[in-house]
Amino acid sequence: MFNDELAWIFSEMGDMEEIEGNRWESLAYRKVAANLEGLGEDIREIYKRNELRKIDGVGAAIEKKIQQYIQHGKIDAYDRLKQKYPIDFRNLRKIQGLGPKKIAALFVNLGVTDIESLKSAIIGHKVAVLPGFGERTETNLLKGIEVLSTVGASRVLLGRAYPDIEAIIAYLNSTGLFDNVILAGSARRMRESIGDVDILVTSSRRKEASDAFIKSEYVSSTVVAGESKVTVNLKLGITCDLRFIDADSTGAALQYFTGSKDHNVHLRDLAVSKGLKLNEYGLFREDSRIAGKDERGIYESLGLEFIEPELRENTGEIDAAMKHELPAIVNFKEIKSDLHMHTLDSDGKNTLEDMLLNSRKNGLEYIAMTNHSTSLKVAHGLDSQRFNELNARIDEISSRLSIPVLKGVELEILRDGSLDLPGNSLKEMDYVLAALHQYVSQDRKENTDRIVKAIESGYIHGLAHPTGRLIGSREPYNIDLDRVLEKCVENHVFLEINGYPERSDLPADIVRRMRESGVKFALGSDAHSISDLKFIRFATAIARRGWLTPEAIVNTLSYSAFRKLLAR
Ligand SMILES: [Zn+2]
Ligand SMILES: [Zn+2]
Repeated sequence: MFNDELAWIFSEMGDMEEIEGNRWESLAYRKVAANLEGLGEDIREIYKRNELRKIDGVGAAIEKKIQQYIQHGKIDAYDRLKQKYPIDFRNLRKIQGLGPKKIAALFVNLGVTDIESLKSAIIGHKVAVLPGFGERTETNLLKGIEVLSTVGASRVLLGRAYPDIEAIIAYLNSTGLFDNVILAGSARRMRESIGDVDILVTSSRRKEASDAFIKSEYVSSTVVAGESKVTVNLKLGITCDLRFIDADSTGAALQYFTGSKDHNVHLRDLAVSKGLKLNEYGLFREDSRIAGKDERGIYESLGLEFIEPELRENTGEIDAAMKHELPAIVNFKEIKSDLHMHTLDSDGKNTLEDMLLNSRKNGLEYIAMTNHSTSLKVAHGLDSQRFNELNARIDEISSRLSIPVLKGVELEILRDGSLDLPGNSLKEMDYVLAALHQYVSQDRKENTDRIVKAIESGYIHGLAHPTGRLIGSREPYNIDLDRVLEKCVENHVFLEINGYPERSDLPADIVRRMRESGVKFALGSDAHSISDLKFIRFATAIARRGWLTPEAIVNTLSYSAFRKLLAR
């Protein structure tokens, strides 16, 4: 959180210095911003050890700025620039095709400072006439704004919000003022994006407990501070409700505040049909409470199997629970590997060694190292020779650290469906993940044929982020997923569930639709830094929301079993 804030400030300074024409400063600030993301520990700890200068890209001048921010919560140089450019870079930069230079032109000529003012400038047709813009840019910017709003202005992707949510819960526990702190709501259901955070607590010192929450570093302002509920705005950009509940009705409150709303409505109707009453305090027959202390008791008393939070969307889970036909969905502790990640060798931010050590720290048995192949120039893709060198290093480090590593590649599927590395190179690879990143057409058949050709090549093991969507910046590719699925089943190619928050690809509803096809799913974090490695957990969440059992997921196999599967 603190690192992210600071990284953002440096990246914004990078933007503003670029506008100023100070290329060198701009590059230096951006480099620090990127390195902060790969740190893996709170920079304030590094500051305490007096080791800021050890961070790559931090010289005397930048060190001073970091110190000033840690000590005083501000950076003078940043404030000066910001006075000159009072622009909402954070959101404007999310719009496809909008870099610092264009943002500056919009600001200087039209007074555009945020998405709203950009939108009205576009609607007033003032953007197209600016030098360097034109009709097409104007249309594209409007489209970019529309795509951006698909996440929703007041929603945050789960994978982006979760670290803060966990930190808030850890903080509340550390105060000693709470007896119990439990996450509820859509974050407990692990929805792709969340609009607020619901935390249930029990405490015998409510006043002090509320104050401690309000004063925490994650809160930007208080909306209401009531007796039994405190609502705040989080720095994350969404609200958080802290509800004081009675220990006695914890299960009922948890069930009620976990939702979803539709699930709860269905459950209440079921209770009524059995002559019972269900609310946030318990399950009642007449005036006597028959369940409510724990959540399981409520489902049991209604004649249902326990329903995991990720399934509570009223999409058939209650009927399945009634018939005792719910699948035994995968648990995170059954996931033994991460099958998609990058290092400094292509576009990652950490070394091979760092990625391995941190994967093990996260409890994984083995990983697949999948850097980009040569045609993806923006990501410094590797050619055969660089892969040879890298693979030799992988062998050395993997045996030194005793962490099994599959030598892999995230391989470009070229325009005509051929593959980006020669066959003899691909045969050297343990794990080939094919992907579409470039030259994607509007034509459904053309895109699908291209992917099918790769699937049928006999060289690939898995298809990375199959729909290609980027939440908030790009729509899914126009492809015939059913045909891709059919070919994957036929050719024993896995479909990836990519846990990188902006991808979350395949989405859970598609996973669920495909789960009985016989296709195997491969989970990957698509980590580009050690802190991204946690995204494997969100890939698992998608699998759970897609009703997948461990058998459908190759990451539940041990290293030796997975190698055997690949050999077939
Ligand atoms: Zn990719
Ligand atoms: Zn990738």
